[in-house]
Amino acid sequence: MGTKGRSIVNMDVNELLKLLNKAYSDEWLAHYQYWIGAKIVKGPMKEAAITELEQHATEELNHALLLTGRIIQLGGTPITKPADWYKMTNCGYDAPDDPFIRVILEQNIKGEQCAIGVYKSLIELTRETDPVTYNLALQILQDEVMHEEELQALTEDLETLIKNPH
Ligand code: FE
Ligand code: FE
Repeated sequence: MGTKGRSIVNMDVNELLKLLNKAYSDEWLAHYQYWIGAKIVKGPMKEAAITELEQHATEELNHALLLTGRIIQLGGTPITKPADWYKMTNCGYDAPDDPFIRVILEQNIKGEQCAIGVYKSLIELTRETDPVTYNLALQILQDEVMHEEELQALTEDLETLIKNPH
């Protein structure tokens, strides 16, 4: 823990650590949802979906990495037991039990929309109180906004293909 770094945080650090661990839980669950979705997805445009899902899986894992770095900087402990991800998560986990591409995309769009809400609130909370976490949350938010758009664009292409099969 950096003591000066921690001391410039102008809010309840324990409360902030709880929020960071909640987001950290979301990222691991999102990572796995994408990762396993990429393995089992079926249907038209499956190849394009696999590429996108795999890339998002990698980026969610990177978000977990960024969050764990900040948690440690603040003197906290990142969640050590996967079972606790379920207890801490904001956005939950949507098992891709129906592997049809449209269903998987829909589930992941829902997850991204939840993540956008989570990082938007973290940004609002830290705007005046913690520039480092603010910057981190902004960086992650930019990715989540991009993820949502990519999945929605893929869904649009898919709908077009389903309506106009060649
Ligand atoms: Fe993420
Ligand atoms: Fe995302």
